[in-house]
Amino acid sequence: MNNFADLNLAPEILRALTESGYTTPTPIQAQAIPLVLEGCDLMAGAQTGTGKTAAFALPMLQKLLPYASSSPSPARHVVRALILVPTRELAVQVEESVKSYAKHSHLRSLVVFGGVDIKTQTPHLRAGVEILVATPGRLLDHIEQKTVQLNQVQMLVLDEADRMLDMGFMPDLKRILALLPKQRQNLMFSATFSNEIKKLSAEFLVNPKLIEVARSNATSENVTQKVYMVGSADKHALLASLLRGSDATQALVFTKTKLTASRIARQLQREGFSADAIHGDKSQMERMQALDAFKQGRISVLIATDVAARGLDIDQLPVVINYEIPSAAEDYVHRIGRTGRAGAFGIAISLVSPEEEKYLVEIEKLIKCQIQRVAPPAIERAVQPEHRAEHHVRIRAPHKPVTKNPVQDAWFNKPYEPSVSTKVNEPVTMQISKPASQIPALFMRRKAVQPDMED
Ligand code: AMP
Repeated sequence: MNNFADLNLAPEILRALTESGYTTPTPIQAQAIPLVLEGCDLMAGAQTGTGKTAAFALPMLQKLLPYASSSPSPARHVVRALILVPTRELAVQVEESVKSYAKHSHLRSLVVFGGVDIKTQTPHLRAGVEILVATPGRLLDHIEQKTVQLNQVQMLVLDEADRMLDMGFMPDLKRILALLPKQRQNLMFSATFSNEIKKLSAEFLVNPKLIEVARSNATSENVTQKVYMVGSADKHALLASLLRGSDATQALVFTKTKLTASRIARQLQREGFSADAIHGDKSQMERMQALDAFKQGRISVLIATDVAARGLDIDQLPVVINYEIPSAAEDYVHRIGRTGRAGAFGIAISLVSPEEEKYLVEIEKLIKCQIQRVAPPAIERAVQPEHRAEHHVRIRAPHKPVTKNPVQDAWFNKPYEPSVSTKVNEPVTMQISKPASQIPALFMRRKAVQPDMED
């Protein structure tokens, strides 16, 4: 499928696509659009960046076009499609896309999410919309206040369903699903296919067509994964030593808890690194500022918890370090998916203590490959105070004076090289038991930090 026109989309939709600069459908779009137009339920495995939003939004608009009305009467604009998403950032993003694809039609869309005064949303809902994008909690609030009617919904999309489950939205989802007409088309998108996701899909999809644009729970083949087995007490020294020894300009470091994230950030700052932490105890403003500083290269090490890091999309992020590996294996896939994006080459390093090894086993089961375990290199101990404050842009200050035991591992010192397709097949240390399928068209997008439900 090389052309959107081959997908039987209406001229007003095609015009919007041309204006958006889209020329060719991405693989998920080429697969999903015909199936959705046929009326099938869909279980789609696709990550953000694959063009999944248009994959459901375009056929949705096409199917709703007969209901488009130029009448201002709310009665002529009832909710016919509901798109549920886990976070407000995603909600805003999805609705912006829908709006831009629908701009030459009379179909209306609206986004509602929590954290803002519900009263500001009510008049817009009352005016009538065909496509409603919502986070589950806020939608339930509107349902309770009777500011929205869902009895005409004929299409339901669960976007980033895996995250919805992670964030504990299952009870809310069930309440919402119970209020929708039984006769409807259901589309579910998820980056990972955990057992819970399979259970959810069995519960609410009817004979779904399964489409996947990347191997289930695939970790990008562009990411070289590596594990250092190291005692908890030595983790910080190893982290600092790795950062110092790296030629990469930036690294994203993951921790399990807010406390550890803050502690590491403070300690690294004391050691002269330009580091900051983002987690749920920080205000949205503080997180945005730290993220911006990181994106602009003013911070070289960003320490994040899983929830705070969701949705982060940073161009050309070369290194992800798991200071602690996650106990939920899917989070590992999300974490290392922050690097090796859009065909770039990335490195994912995990510092694993003996107590964490059980989680590592689970991760390897999920990603169906064994990650190379490496003995930690000789660790450079904490830097003396007089040699601090040199890591402003590069992680490794070029002339670090104190290096009693520099990192001995030549592999880590391999310079980071941005993507060219030929680099993908350079020797990697990861032992892949199954050949990973090609990750399809990836499109970079910067995103805001997500709201939190961590620790
Ligand atoms: P998504 O995976 O839906 O978040 O989309 C990722 C990015 O790809 C967004 O910025 C879209 O605007 C863009 N995009 C989606 N489909 C296409 C396409 N067929 N051609 C070019 N860009 C696209």
